[in-house]
Amino acid sequence: MKILGTSEEDIITAAEALRSGRLVAIPTETVYGLGANARDEAALAAVFAAKQRPTFDPLIIHVATPEGADEVADLSLPYAREAIKAFWPGPLTLVLPKRDWVPALATSGLATVAVRCPGLALTRRLIAEAGVPVAAPSANAFGHLSPTTAQHVADGLGDRVDFIVDGGPCALGVESTVLDLSMDPPLVLRPGGLSLEAIRAVVPTVQLFDRATTSPRAPGQLPSHYAPSKPLRLFASGSLPGVATLAAGTPEGAAWVRSTAALCFGRESARAAAACGLFGSVTDLSPDGDPVTAAARLFSLLHDLETADCAEIWSERLPEAGLGRAVNDRLFKASVKDGADGRHG
Ligand code: AMP
Ligand code: MG
Repeated sequence: MKILGTSEEDIITAAEALRSGRLVAIPTETVYGLGANARDEAALAAVFAAKQRPTFDPLIIHVATPEGADEVADLSLPYAREAIKAFWPGPLTLVLPKRDWVPALATSGLATVAVRCPGLALTRRLIAEAGVPVAAPSANAFGHLSPTTAQHVADGLGDRVDFIVDGGPCALGVESTVLDLSMDPPLVLRPGGLSLEAIRAVVPTVQLFDRATTSPRAPGQLPSHYAPSKPLRLFASGSLPGVATLAAGTPEGAAWVRSTAALCFGRESARAAAACGLFGSVTDLSPDGDPVTAAARLFSLLHDLETADCAEIWSERLPEAGLGRAVNDRLFKASVKDGADGRHG
């Protein structure tokens, strides 16, 4: 594995590698992707092998320009062109009927394909230089946290990837929103970097996938995903006094909580968590109280806590609005234990 920079020479090296079937981890504004030539089935198979990802979890195909989506998907469905015009390049993945050439391996045999034109100009330049659509799931091993830095990719995949293009930390830090336009009404399958509120302005009938009432069509919708290697528990805003009272009941309880790292949303919550004196460490997900900041910091903080001296992570849930939905979704999936639902990523 070789880490490349963003010089013209390095971009050309990465693009040639992509085109010729090698695996190249690429930065995007959401998370780092494990890129492969979408037209090369052997390269696609290598993506699944490198991630140890089961082939029933379809990949997102990335294109260099909004118009380029036409090569991959049928854009004639209601709202497809409107959504592309409004939100691309950007953190929105559209699920649409696939073109015939798209390999079944990229779509897990589905008649639909997930396609996105990424917001980061560097990613688009790379794809344009490669001259082929680039299939790229998140560049992490199956079931693990998504990478938001080149170092995360190097730590997680090592020599299972040929090149990593280091474009610095991802600006958004949370995966793209997946919007299935092949469903009526259109369905957000995965909340992400683009808010439901923003989509609703262009697709008024859009619904949020509800795991209680709809069975999953793709593994990104299954509960356990994006998991850190330590237990993660969620608490509601304002519920810390109850936790403190409970834990203070016994010396063992207090010691146990002290080996726990708390993630809080906003200064006030972080202050309250620190003041209750029960956590080994308290980190504020969003010192400015903006859920966008929490999304950008979430995976990076979880990566840090994996190696930090704590046995457990407790995180506060964010208000269910804007990017708070995407953060809560990732927190919920990270908090679900390995079980019947399996792990994905
Ligand atoms: P990731 O590997 O993190 O980039 O996630 C890709 C996710 O996109 C999958 O886990 C699915 O949730 C979603 N996806 C990809 N292709 C499709 C499809 N054809 N239909 C529905 N969801 C899809
Ligand atoms: Mg993933």
